[in-house]
Amino acid sequence: MKIRKISANYIFTGKKVLKKAIIELEETGKILNVIDTKGNLQEEDSLEFYSGVIVPGFVNAHCHLELSHMKGLIDNKTVQALPGFIDEIISKRNFPDDLQEKIQKADFEMQKNGIVAVGDISNTDDSFNIKKNSKIYYHTFVETFTINNQKSDEAFETAKTNLKKLNNFGLKGTIVPHASYSVPDELYSKIENFDKENFKIISVHNQETTSEDEAIKSKTGALAEVLQNNGFELSDFSYKGKSAIENTLVNQNPNNNILLIHNTFTNKENIKYAEKFSQNIYWVFCPLSNLYIENTVPNLPMFFNKDIKTCIGTDSYASNTELSILSELKTIKKCFPEIPFKNLIKSACLNGAKALKIDNKFGSIEKGKTPGINLISDFDYENMHLKKESKIKVLN
Ligand SMILES: [Zn+2]
Repeated sequence: MKIRKISANYIFTGKKVLKKAIIELEETGKILNVIDTKGNLQEEDSLEFYSGVIVPGFVNAHCHLELSHMKGLIDNKTVQALPGFIDEIISKRNFPDDLQEKIQKADFEMQKNGIVAVGDISNTDDSFNIKKNSKIYYHTFVETFTINNQKSDEAFETAKTNLKKLNNFGLKGTIVPHASYSVPDELYSKIENFDKENFKIISVHNQETTSEDEAIKSKTGALAEVLQNNGFELSDFSYKGKSAIENTLVNQNPNNNILLIHNTFTNKENIKYAEKFSQNIYWVFCPLSNLYIENTVPNLPMFFNKDIKTCIGTDSYASNTELSILSELKTIKKCFPEIPFKNLIKSACLNGAKALKIDNKFGSIEKGKTPGINLISDFDYENMHLKKESKIKVLN
């Protein structure tokens, strides 16, 4: 068996930072050993030394692979926050002949960008075949929503059929609600009662726009109007609680892993409420998508300064120009340089792996795992952080 030995200026294992440590791995990518040299690296024939820092393979905690054909379709200069974006998605979402090619390209792009696992939203089965044949591990969130109680049966049957197809491809997934505001009562109870006895992984879009809480509290405001204009019968939606996040969580089992996506307008009180509700909340951030749609980013230091679990996602090509976790991290660095790189890596790797319950294999460079090995070059050693020019290369 051929063993590879790899080292670089620093290794961010996902848990620790080691100077010039040696990673020994099998050809399969399985880590055999991580040797802490304490910076005292002896030259060796078979040792590959790289200039830069090594980090584990990235876990993209939020994507919509099936929207890969929508790159550039929605003009972010004219879109009016999420309500306007929803209007555009509804009118511009089509299914072109080359959809499969576009999805394949997006999957390859993520591989090239060092992404090894993805939590991916699917409303259709368009992406399943590509996921099956990909090197990337996918957990698929079979997402459902509808406009009234009457259509709930049909919506849920579609979700169940898609989950079955997904499982027939040998892929893992769970049925999840789209967002606090888009699931009528009857559909919610079907989601809740389905596969109730098993602990699940749930993903819900949360507080992505300012008018979301208003929609929940009083069924008024920009978001409520867009929903009504698109046929949503809000009398069929019993919104509970004082905010979108409360409405989402009261419908959840606190033992599930709950991924809350975006959290752009989440406040301190909301965080406290959610953390008290469950120990298994994962706060997923997609800053480039937020900038695209809302022209703002969440107050990230409020999340990163606490002992709470943060993750990173790219969202889809409908609201991003690339699918790169590194670019998301650079954006966070630019907006909030005080958040240490080490914390960003924990979010982008280990926390994402825990959220998707794959941390036995992914998320950190540790003996026995197959996490993927990424090299980040053009690194700022003085501040131990990313530079605008930082680049990524997949070493394994
Ligand atoms: Zn999304």
